[in-house]
Amino acid sequence: MSAKRPPLLWFNIFIFTSSLLLALVATPLYAVSHGLGWEHLIWLLIAFSFTNLSITAGYHRLWSHKTYQASSILRVIFAIGGAFSLQNSALHWSSDHRDHHKHVDHDSKDPYSASRGFWYSHMGWMLRDYNHETYFDYKNCRDLKKDKIVQWQHKYYAALAIATNFGFPILLGIIYSDIVGMFLVVGALRLFLSHHTTFFINSLAHIWGKQTFTNKNSARDNGALAFLTFGEGYHNFHHLFENDYRNGIDWWHYDPTKWLIKGCSWIGLTEKLRVTPQFKIEKARATMLLQNAHQKLHTMDVNPSLAHKLEQDFESLIESMHDYYDSKMQLLQSKKQQILKSHELELLKHRHHRLKEQFKYQQQMWMSDIKRYA
Ligand SMILES: [Zn+2]
Ligand SMILES: [Zn+2]
Repeated sequence: MSAKRPPLLWFNIFIFTSSLLLALVATPLYAVSHGLGWEHLIWLLIAFSFTNLSITAGYHRLWSHKTYQASSILRVIFAIGGAFSLQNSALHWSSDHRDHHKHVDHDSKDPYSASRGFWYSHMGWMLRDYNHETYFDYKNCRDLKKDKIVQWQHKYYAALAIATNFGFPILLGIIYSDIVGMFLVVGALRLFLSHHTTFFINSLAHIWGKQTFTNKNSARDNGALAFLTFGEGYHNFHHLFENDYRNGIDWWHYDPTKWLIKGCSWIGLTEKLRVTPQFKIEKARATMLLQNAHQKLHTMDVNPSLAHKLEQDFESLIESMHDYYDSKMQLLQSKKQQILKSHELELLKHRHHRLKEQFKYQQQMWMSDIKRYA
């Protein structure tokens, strides 16, 4: 017999249902009957980006994971944008999110566990009082209790949420003489889009995509989701390296949150951006490829010595990878500190170049071998 389900949370149900009806029914009807202009679309994009980036750069990468430090002004902006996105206070959000990382995929300890299915991880977890016992438990966020802006936002969250969600659209409505249109587009439609794109990170980003760096949890890397979520779609990387301010690590990865954090560091709004050593990233990637190859070889009728050879080649690849990244770091440090004489620096450069060639060649060979099986 199934256990009794927790009571429904009617306030949340009201918010999600009303924003859905206003966004998908009332807004199109209003667009047909009254017409909408470019100003509606432009402000929709601005408000959507502002709210989503406040969640990704603020709630997520700053407050939940401390991947960088931000100035007070930026934290105030994120706190306001977070209230505008109506996803609870930064303190509450971060507490849930830290539990999600710590107990990922655990049926009861992960507040939005993907192991309970798409619907539960997307929004089902917010429709019933599943986390009643731990709702006000912020023990895992002692550090955030020292952040005055987080505390201020937590205390006045309801007032800030009302002021932003009604205030911004109504103000725009007064400016453009269309209060109903702006309320529907910048208020309801923006909220609906902002909610569901963020929720995709808990649902789809744990179902759809590649396990590039680890298969110890359900998180996936997915470029299409990254596009919808301001870069958070590289969720497999993020679950393994949660202290990194980036989610998309390659330059061609679409990660506007990373660009925002980096861009702000040039004007002094952010600092101490944390990155994972490249060696660890490459090692994790290669380890996953090896594991996939082993699994595939297991199902194929091939000479067992092949698996052994792949393993040996992997060991030697990791060794030359380690030497290469080590020499890269040495070179960077000595350039920075300017302690070496010019001929010593030349020797170091020469050695680094040799190790790089060796590593790249070995990597290429190994990749072409492994790709046949992974
Ligand atoms: Zn996270
Ligand atoms: Zn996750």
